[in-house]
Amino acid sequence: MVQPKYERVVLKLSGEAIAGEKGYGIDPATIDVMVQEIKEIYELGVEIAIIVGGGNIWRGQIGEEMGMERAQADYMGMLATVMNALALQDVLENNDVPTRVQTSIEMRQIAEPYIRRKAIRHLEKSRVVIFAGGTGNPYFTTDTTAALRAAEINADVILMAKNNVDGVYDSDPSINVEAKKFDELTHLDVIAKGLKVMDSTASSLSMDNDIPLVVFNLNEPGNIKRVVLGENIGTTVLA
Ligand code: UDP
Repeated sequence: MVQPKYERVVLKLSGEAIAGEKGYGIDPATIDVMVQEIKEIYELGVEIAIIVGGGNIWRGQIGEEMGMERAQADYMGMLATVMNALALQDVLENNDVPTRVQTSIEMRQIAEPYIRRKAIRHLEKSRVVIFAGGTGNPYFTTDTTAALRAAEINADVILMAKNNVDGVYDSDPSINVEAKKFDELTHLDVIAKGLKVMDSTASSLSMDNDIPLVVFNLNEPGNIKRVVLGENIGTTVLA
């Protein structure tokens, strides 16, 4: 059997990845395509923790722009990530992939509360763990959650799945046709150059805790497996 490069991964899926073509809400057919890919690496024996975003339903910033208090709007964003997590869990389990959802804010009737040691135990028992609710704190993002949980569970890498973007560029490739893609960078380069990979809190946390990151295009079939097998696609951000 092929040997994966990573034993334990954190897969960051943005809310956008769950919305599909519509760009808003939850599209089970889109999730299904993604789940087939996740299942491929699950079957390789990779331990998988998933962090889901919520931008397909709500972002704190939207609320703030409408005049809401930022913290209040951010809590709504965190709840949006829980809806995505439950949708993802449903499709994974329909495809015979055992899962547990853990929320950073307690919702006992819906999911387990986040308990680090329990999460690790689930991973060791070949259950996919979906971390919902972000960090549980306003003013943070699910990218930062990915960096935080990756450090907590000793993940080998963060897999940053992007929608229709195949890596990190020196400028926006949708605007600048001359934009150059980086094959390899460091977190320090990302911060110093102000590159849009994760937010700066997430980058600093990943740098301080020596967690590498691979940014790749989720919409290219087979990419999650390629990254896990160590193929050089996308951009690798070294610790
Ligand atoms: N959020 C938060 N704290 C966190 C994670 C998320 O307040 O630790 C809120 C925030 O309002 C954010 C929203 O949840 O806008 C959705 O998360 P994010 O923007 O990271 O989702 P994505 O862009 O990945 O879809």
